[in-house]
Amino acid sequence: MKLAARMEQLPPYLFLELDRIIEQQQAQGYDVINLGIGDPDQPTPQHIIQALQLAASRPQNHRYPNYLGSPSFRRVVSEWYNQRFKVVLDPLNETVGLIGSKEGIAHLTWAMAGPGDVVLVPEPSYPVYYTQAILAGADVHLLPLTRENGFLPDLTQIPTDILFRAKMLWINYPNNPTGAVASLDFYRGAVDFCRQHDILLCSDLAYAEIGFDGYRAPSVLEVEGAKDVAVEFYSLSKPFNMTGWRVAAAVGNRLAVEALGTMKSNLDSGVFTAVQEAAETALTTEPFPFFQKQNALYQARRDIVLNALNRMNIEIPAPLSTFYIWFPTPGNMTSSEASQFFVQEANVVVAPGSSYGPSGEGWLRISLTCPSERLIEAMNRMEAASKRL
Ligand SMILES: *Cc1c(COP(=O)(O)O)cnc(C)c1O
Repeated sequence: MKLAARMEQLPPYLFLELDRIIEQQQAQGYDVINLGIGDPDQPTPQHIIQALQLAASRPQNHRYPNYLGSPSFRRVVSEWYNQRFKVVLDPLNETVGLIGSKEGIAHLTWAMAGPGDVVLVPEPSYPVYYTQAILAGADVHLLPLTRENGFLPDLTQIPTDILFRAKMLWINYPNNPTGAVASLDFYRGAVDFCRQHDILLCSDLAYAEIGFDGYRAPSVLEVEGAKDVAVEFYSLSKPFNMTGWRVAAAVGNRLAVEALGTMKSNLDSGVFTAVQEAAETALTTEPFPFFQKQNALYQARRDIVLNALNRMNIEIPAPLSTFYIWFPTPGNMTSSEASQFFVQEANVVVAPGSSYGPSGEGWLRISLTCPSERLIEAMNRMEAASKRL
């Protein structure tokens, strides 16, 4: 049997060799520390779990959910946007519930782009923007994010013939994997640009609530008139340690929200209503003290990593958000060589930057979602290994 031709378009799995080395080290009894995965290690707050338990026990929640998100969930999301960003949203026409942002990112791509269309994708980036555009049969135009451009795409560099066919522009700030942040001025420029070229601006705000040294990320929808061209993905996964729960929302541009709703009613049946109720509890039970506590933890871990990198003569500015540290490989190694080196020589897994796009070559990503004692141990081992370079 042969799979659909589109499956061959997907990029090859890049971690084969890395996985082989990890398994080999584990088989020899080594204690391997994985700093490669961005998934919060701390539990979901207790009051959210209790809200789920209560909601799960109600029989009316056992039936099919509202495909677009329950009216109360969508109202809570719009109230949250108003409280958090001073953005006014119509809950019914400008918000839609999602089974995690990933689902919405994928389905919006299918709703917006097909053969002949172009999707503008920054790189290095979260792989879903690229892979879904390819699966949907669209062409991808990559926008390099480099240290030189502050990890912000240079929209003036896009050729006119590409712009003519472009349907969507992805942006993701605070950024995975680079940890970079964007200002409201950058968002203003992007909104103007997309208005001028009739492109849907798609903002992935997965790391909205993570901020260090007092930093607080803005929403693209804070820009005057942004809703004319912009849709934003807000996920509960990272801020509330709820990656396994699968709940998020897309908000903003009506056309995009409606298109997502149409895709969803043909593809899935929405988020378990009990999970939506728990998400309402998360957003309405004064979340800022929890964010503060969580951010203090990540900031302390960030400083552990930065200090260790400093001792390894790797100097990077301290990121203001996300739980990633993005840094150049030591000793002029490629990303892949460096991640294999650290598994072999330190039993520490760090993500090769090149797996997030060609401009990630020569970089590595450390995730801070690992207990602090383990992180300290991992950094000590990396420092010792790098002395043997
Ligand atoms: C984690 C992550 C997501 C996925 O969020 P879910 O809501 O859990 O699907 C989306 N975008 C980026 C950039 C991420 O890092």
